[in-house]
Parts: sequence; C-alpha cells; structure tokens
Amino acid sequence: MNLETPKKFRGLVNQAHQVAENYFRPISRKYDKAEHAYPKELDLLAALLDGMNAGSPDAIGATSASKRGAAQEQQEGVRNGGNLSALLGVMELCWGDVGLLLAMPRQGLGNAAIAAVANDQQLERFAGTWAAMAITEPGCGSDSAAIRTTAVKDGDHYVLNGEKIFVTSGARADAVVVWATLDKGLGRAAIKSFVVEHGTPGMSVTRLEKKLGIKASDTASISFSDCRVPAANLLGNPQIDVQKGFAGVMETFDNTRPLVAGMAVGVAKASLDRTRELLRKVCTLDYRKPLLAVSHAEATLYRLEAEWEAARLLTLKAAWMADNKLPNSKEASIAKAKAGRVANEVTLKCVELAGALGYGEDELLEKWARDSKILDIFEGTQQIQLLIVARRLLGKSSSELK
Ligand SMILES: Cc1cc2nc3c(=O)[nH]c(=O)nc-3n(C[C@H](O)[C@H](O)[C@H](O)COP(=O)(O)OP(=O)(O)OC[C@H]3O[C@@H](n4cnc5c(N)ncnc54)[C@H](O)[C@@H]3O)c2cc1C
Repeated sequence: MNLETPKKFRGLVNQAHQVAENYFRPISRKYDKAEHAYPKELDLLAALLDGMNAGSPDAIGATSASKRGAAQEQQEGVRNGGNLSALLGVMELCWGDVGLLLAMPRQGLGNAAIAAVANDQQLERFAGTWAAMAITEPGCGSDSAAIRTTAVKDGDHYVLNGEKIFVTSGARADAVVVWATLDKGLGRAAIKSFVVEHGTPGMSVTRLEKKLGIKASDTASISFSDCRVPAANLLGNPQIDVQKGFAGVMETFDNTRPLVAGMAVGVAKASLDRTRELLRKVCTLDYRKPLLAVSHAEATLYRLEAEWEAARLLTLKAAWMADNKLPNSKEASIAKAKAGRVANEVTLKCVELAGALGYGEDELLEKWARDSKILDIFEGTQQIQLLIVARRLLGKSSSELK
C-alpha cells in the first residue's frame, strides 16, 4: 500500500480543500447558530460538485463510494477508485465543516447505500436523487436486527408501516432509504432497504431534533402509515436468503463506515491545525526534540498528531480495500472505532490546549468538539464497532457474542 495521495486524486483533494476553506468555513458559525435553517449557499456548491463529478469514474462524494466497477479493474492491478476518492473528498470537506457536509444535497448516506447495493436500473433511476438513510427506530438503535418497520408485498408495491427516528437530512432530502422487514419471524435475513420518495402518501416528517452539534444538518423523525412504495424501489435482491442473512443491507456499512471515519479524520485535522497555529505563538514546536524535553502542551499535541495519523491510515486502508473488492467489514469497523474515538479526544483536548480561547465562540475549536461527538455514535457506536471487530477476530456470530 502506497501511503501517498494518488496523483490522479490530488486535483480533487485540492478542490475539496478550497471548498472547505472558502465556502464552508465562512458560514460555519452562522449555521451553528441557526439550527434548522437550510444553508442555501449549498445549492450552488452541490451543483458545482455535480458538474465536477459528471462523467468522472473517480468522483468526490457519497455516490462514488461503491464496490461496483472494482471487479473489472482488478485484473489491471491495484485500484484507487470511488471509495478512496469519496473518502479523500470527505476528509477535506469535514476539515471545513462536518454539519455542512452532512447537509450537502445529493451527498446523503442514503446515496452511499444506493451506490453500494442498487442494481444497474435502480442506479440509473435514482441518479441525481438526494437520499437520506433511515435505520434507527424508537425501539432499535445499535441492534439494527430489531427493526420493527414492516414491508408487505401487495401486487407491484410494498406497503410500509413503522416509525424512523434520527434520520440525517430526513426532512430535506428527496428520498429516504428505509430499512424494513419483509417477515419479522425470519429475523435479519428478511430486512431489506427501500427508496421512499418524499411526497409518497403515508410518509410524513413528524419532528426535527435539537442537537449538541452538526446543527447545520437536519435530523428528522419520519412515520410511515400504509405507505405504498413501488416494488422496483427495493434495493438489491428481493429474495430472503437465510444463508446470507443480514449481509445484503449490511454491505452498505462497508462503504459508509469508512466515510464516517473520514469525517472524523477531517474535523480532528481542523482542530490540530488550528491548535498548532495557536501553540506556535507561545512555543517552538521543534519536532526534533525528545518528548521529555518539551512542554506538556507540545508533548500532548505530538501524541494527538500520532493518534490522528493512525486513524487516517486505518481509514484509508478500509476504503482502499473496498475499491479492490477485498472483504473490509472488519477494517471498516476498525477505522470507524479508531477515528471516532480519536476525533472525540483530539477535538476536546485541543479546546483544553487553547485554554479560554478554545472554549469561546471567537474560535471554532469548541464547535468542532461538539460536532465530532456524533461521529462516534452514528453508523454504529464505538462499542458496537469493537463488538463487530471482536466477532470477526474470534469467528463468533452475533448470537454467540452480544
Ligand atoms: C445526530 C444524529 C444523526 C443520526 N443519523 C442517523 C441516520 O441518518 N440514520 C439512522 O438510521 N440513524 C441515525 N442516527 C441514529 C444512530 O445511528 C443511533 O443513535 C446509534 O446507532 C445508537 O443507537 P441508540 O441511540 O438507540 O443507542 P443504543 O443502541 O440504545 O445504545 C446506547 C448505548 O449502549 C451501548 N450499547 C448498545 N448495545 C451494546 C452492546 N451490545 N455492547 C456494548 N454496548 C452496547 C451503545 O454503544 C451506546 O453507548 C443518528 C443519531 C444522531 C444522534
């Protein structure tokens, strides 16, 4: 594995950084203060991103995070593809602002879900659709197998009933990818995902959350009451494969967890960069000096930087494996667990290192500490990622190790 950014992605990374610096940062505080206000500045930006991505096999953004296409490239040797380019873009954009990235039209986690499991026809039909992802329910968070939302086949439709909570971009997106069970009695294997477009009768947004951080991003509760969805909107295979179990919908996480880890890497880098600038005003930051010969603040910064680098490399590896069609569920969870924890620690420690300055609103350090918390919670909490890694390492099933 070559640890440098592939040459073909350097332009994309540079553009994403410019966007983060010149578009996101100037409006960061404004939308932190105006929770639930839609950042209208993002419309133009999303259109620009669509333009940049059009016709590019290695685009930035959620839709390019897919294992699709990796197979035929495999014969040509090691591939750096859509997962890596999406990840590198996400890291840069979250150096700008995590909440604004999450609020970007057509860059929802539902888009990554569609990219990961949709068939070719569905990919074409849902191209350009902004999709949120709805798994969590009032009685089901970490244990996604406990989903109670039902989907019952009725002619050429499925009828959905249930309630979803904490749906990122759930109110603003064009559609929501909803996880529902075809048969509660068959457990995990019967859980499928459905694209439900806003405006479909029976679907309604019932609540918007007020949150600690990522306030630029809306988080909605959505109810489904006899909501009829075309059968063609079921993503992937409609058959219930008890052997494969949960694998179908779970494949989504192999692509999305590295992206969330990338968000954590991005916001942690923002905190480290700013703290380094502030510390340089009062200490030399001479990296050649042994750790015992520098101040506590310098030593802390160096340790945080090392943790950050480890998180970054693990995250790159997970995405790179997806590009090369290597099974990466364990590595996706390792990356998410490490990067989520590191981002929480780094951003909060940076508030501490910057003292009163770090705690005030003149700096964005306190905001980044609040924004980073969610990255260790959604797409599977810290504890759940560690559980998944333990299961993989020990060869245990989810019923054997809970
Ligand atoms: C701002 C925000 C945005 C979100 N966006 C989305 C979204 O777009 N789509 C979506 O579907 N969901 C979303 N979520 C929901 C999120 O994925 C869940 O909150 C998360 O999966 C945890 O579920 P829970 O809150 O029910 O906690 P619980 O599952 O009740 O867990 C509570 C605590 O117990 C721990 N725990 C649970 N089980 C175990 C175990 N077996 N071993 C050890 N510890 C355990 C957890 O780690 C956690 O610390 C969002 C949440 C928030 C706050």
